[in-house]
Amino acid sequence: MGNCGIYVQVPFCQTKCTYCNFHTGVVSEGRFAPYIGAVQREISSRAALFESAGISMPFGIDSVDTVYIGGGTPSLLDPQLLANLLETIQKNFSCAWQEVTLEADPETIEPDKTTQWVAGGINRISFGSQSFVDEELKAAGRRHRREDIFRAVPILRNAGIHNISFDLIAGLPKQTRTSWWHSLSESIGLRPEHISIYMMEIDEGSRLGLEVLQGGARYNARDLPSEEAMADFYELAQAELASAGYEQYEISNWALPGYASKHNLKYWRRDPYLGFGAGAHSFSGSQRWANLHDAAKYVAAISEGKAAIESVEPVTPESALEEEFFLGLRQLAGIDLARIERQYGVNLKDKVERLKSNGMVERYGDILRLAPAKLSISNEVFVELLR
Ligand code: SF4
Repeated sequence: MGNCGIYVQVPFCQTKCTYCNFHTGVVSEGRFAPYIGAVQREISSRAALFESAGISMPFGIDSVDTVYIGGGTPSLLDPQLLANLLETIQKNFSCAWQEVTLEADPETIEPDKTTQWVAGGINRISFGSQSFVDEELKAAGRRHRREDIFRAVPILRNAGIHNISFDLIAGLPKQTRTSWWHSLSESIGLRPEHISIYMMEIDEGSRLGLEVLQGGARYNARDLPSEEAMADFYELAQAELASAGYEQYEISNWALPGYASKHNLKYWRRDPYLGFGAGAHSFSGSQRWANLHDAAKYVAAISEGKAAIESVEPVTPESALEEEFFLGLRQLAGIDLARIERQYGVNLKDKVERLKSNGMVERYGDILRLAPAKLSISNEVFVELLR
């Protein structure tokens, strides 16, 4: 088992993007400090809180080498609150940090703030660029515009951030092949070390998704690219990023050599991680658990000295084997079939042969990988794998 990662969820935003299906809310700034105070308390009292929820901590989970502060928009917080949070983590764990990421939206980035982030230990920024086309950003309800991205990146570089990741969304309302190519080109031109590309999700969890499912026209619901167009956008991204020197290491992630996200790799490699804050998820190797999603209920529970945990599940050998496939195969490096067969006492020969004959996977010795042409439809492969 590798070192532990810590994820902290900050579920606050300035406005709600039309496509957002996360548990985040727009609240007054006065709620930020009590929330971070509750997260600090959750971290320092975790032994008692976990015990009261029936969670047992395996030996060695106290060594932490990555931290990821996500959201929401954690860059909205006063930098001092973030510094306090990181200090609490350092005091409570054995820390040899390799990667400390903060999610930041372009319009929230200012020189003073950024300098304080770096002083507090943050060394990577995951930057919510999403698109470089103002019409798309506006249609999606984003606060920032293209020029905010160009203003923010030099500020980050000047403050000493040498590891920047851009998020882009394929499938935004009003997006066309040309506008998508434009966003890719401008991203590549700014040379971030890492680029994540997310496919637009249509479900009832967002205002836009609900509108689409109900056949309405609000939120530019009729201006969404087709599924075929989105698959084409994905392939265009693969080609453009590869020719610009970015290596694809996961279904949604590309990096310059040496810059794959150390924290996110833990999720796909099934290394342990502890999540703190409302809605945060954790994995110890033998259990998975999730915190209460409602931020107010989370703060109230922690203030009363109670665990703010809403579900705890054991990881059975069967579910662990499933995870090996649907998490492991997200990585382009693939999975080690010999290790899995040995570890779980299973014979996967027939299953693998069936998938190979369907052209879904490729096998190189003991390594099994998704076929490159199937990366954009990985969910279909996973369903087939788990049958
Ligand atoms: S900034 Fe991110 S988390 Fe916040 S509303 Fe927009 S998509 Fe959701």
